[in-house]
Amino acid sequence: MYYKFDVVIVGSGGAGLMAAMQLPQASVAVLTKLYPTRSHTGAAQGGVAAALGNREEDHWKWHMYDTVKGGDYLVDQPAAEILAREAIDAVYELEHRGLPFNRTEDGRIDQRRFGGHTRNFGEAPVRRSCYAADRTGHMILQTMYQNAIKNQVRFFNEYLVLDLLINDGQACGVVALEIRTGEIHTFHAKAVLFATGGYGRAWRVTSNAFACMGDGMSIAYRRGIPLEDMEMYQFHPTGIYKVGVLLSEAARGEGAKLLNGKGQYFMERYMPTLKDLAPRDIVSRCIVQEIKEGRGVDGEDYVLLDVRHLGAQKIAEKLPDITDFARNYLGVEPITEPVPIQPTAHYAMGGIPTDIDARVVIDKHWTPFPGFYAAGEVACVSVHGANRLGTNSLVDLIVFGRRAGKHMAKFITETNYAPLPSEPDGFARELVEHLSRSTGRESAARIRSALQNEMDDKVFVERSESSLRHALDTIEGLQDAYKKVELQDKGKLFNTEMVEALELGFLLDCAEATIHGALARTESRGAHYRLDYPRRDDVNWLKHTLAYKGTKAHDVRLDYKDVILINDPLFQPKERKY
Ligand SMILES: Cc1cc2nc3c(=O)[nH]c(=O)nc-3n(C[C@H](O)[C@H](O)[C@H](O)COP(=O)(O)OP(=O)(O)OC[C@H]3O[C@@H](n4cnc5c(N)ncnc54)[C@H](O)[C@@H]3O)c2cc1C
Repeated sequence: MYYKFDVVIVGSGGAGLMAAMQLPQASVAVLTKLYPTRSHTGAAQGGVAAALGNREEDHWKWHMYDTVKGGDYLVDQPAAEILAREAIDAVYELEHRGLPFNRTEDGRIDQRRFGGHTRNFGEAPVRRSCYAADRTGHMILQTMYQNAIKNQVRFFNEYLVLDLLINDGQACGVVALEIRTGEIHTFHAKAVLFATGGYGRAWRVTSNAFACMGDGMSIAYRRGIPLEDMEMYQFHPTGIYKVGVLLSEAARGEGAKLLNGKGQYFMERYMPTLKDLAPRDIVSRCIVQEIKEGRGVDGEDYVLLDVRHLGAQKIAEKLPDITDFARNYLGVEPITEPVPIQPTAHYAMGGIPTDIDARVVIDKHWTPFPGFYAAGEVACVSVHGANRLGTNSLVDLIVFGRRAGKHMAKFITETNYAPLPSEPDGFARELVEHLSRSTGRESAARIRSALQNEMDDKVFVERSESSLRHALDTIEGLQDAYKKVELQDKGKLFNTEMVEALELGFLLDCAEATIHGALARTESRGAHYRLDYPRRDDVNWLKHTLAYKGTKAHDVRLDYKDVILINDPLFQPKERKY
């Protein structure tokens, strides 16, 4: 089938839906490989940061400062300013659209603490996270989906996008596989927004949903668009042991503490001011350190999260879902027992490079790619730099999703449809048909678990030249093996084996860019910690990585782009002491 819309949005998470709502005059299609409200945004527990100052004094500039510092100064500072300033309006927009936030006694949006968010430029923790119990993302998704339906947005559910269409240097649509029928469809558009989320499934222990396979990043990368700062991948300190499912930082925001195998609250030793509420990269490294020095529980590779002192009532009121996770996945009762946890792959700070209007930019000179936009976790604007603060992703979705929508609204009135390239669906058809006819006997499941194990072992909280070289070798071998994947299911209808194999191809691309970026970056910054280069190096590395896919297999070209600083002494890179 052939469809034509003013705007095609790929992804119905927070970023995609927020953008869709800004386009009341346009014809808008949202394509999603899932049912819309199953997007990973729905799993976000803790909250959304905005300096509303409802509980205590707060300012957007403090929020901006925390974001820049938390990101270990790899943040583009003008973008962080927009994030912090516009967060306030964007949260009120959610409220006005009907989001049921928790309330203060006098009826305003309630706010709680979260890691790295401070008052008065680092003095002490501040209450900045707006929340709806520990189901904030779920509420965002439900509220926005209802609004999108009201606004007559056209949804194409369970459509897997496989390619971005480009003609004469302009984006002009996408090609998608309809999962139900196995048919390939072409969507012609004036503007395309990718809001496809992250790629946490590249690791074995991850907080991410099964659908977080890096689709959008890979599709762009295959079309010559670079991926920025992919080595900056965040490991959240508190994943359920072995399972990876997240126990939100909201728990520590409410007062939970980390406990080692010797019964010590060890964060006090490392971070006397912020303690358990230090930024995630730091807390994850402290956990790894405790384990390395033999203070894991029973000599194993985990420590404990302790909420017992909060009391049954507060736990039930403020942390209902995550305590249920501990009961269901581990059979542990958090009211009486501490919960086994370990760092879990959580969030991509890197992604498709964009400017502050969510326009994709393709080189170090910030050249925009007309008609192509990206927002949310798939994008790198870059407000998170080398390490994202908790609750700053949901803000990113609503602030830059909104900016994408508004910019596209203007763009489509000023531009015409670019004609489709000849044989627009050729590339996507070949991807699918190659898998259908392959007799190579290789299994996608085997490749996926080999990839995940290698990423957990070699591209984790700590890396080194030798671990990364090993990972690169392994990934290249897996990429070669991927070409021989053979499917058992040769049918067209609901061929989920086909979908998973296609997604695995995306995941391998993301892993490739991550490892190349990490190998080249010979410093430690934020989430990227090199045992062989343990210091941050602002002289050589205050810059963003751009990874381009080469024309030959395994070929990746790296380039670099300066970080944008503002002219204010407060925001100049300093050592990140808390
Ligand atoms: C467990 C968990 C808890 C979190 N808690 C918080 C929190 O409290 N606060 C916070 O700020 N952040 C939190 N985060 C991070 C945040 O939730 C995510 O970064 C964010 O929701 C991503 O939103 P998104 O709109 O970019 O993409 P997603 O919500 O991941 O949605 C992606 C969309 O793209 C679609 N899609 C993907 N590929 C394709 C394709 N090929 N074809 C068609 N459609 C496609 C999917 O169907 C989906 O609709 C959490 C993350 C996790 C995993």
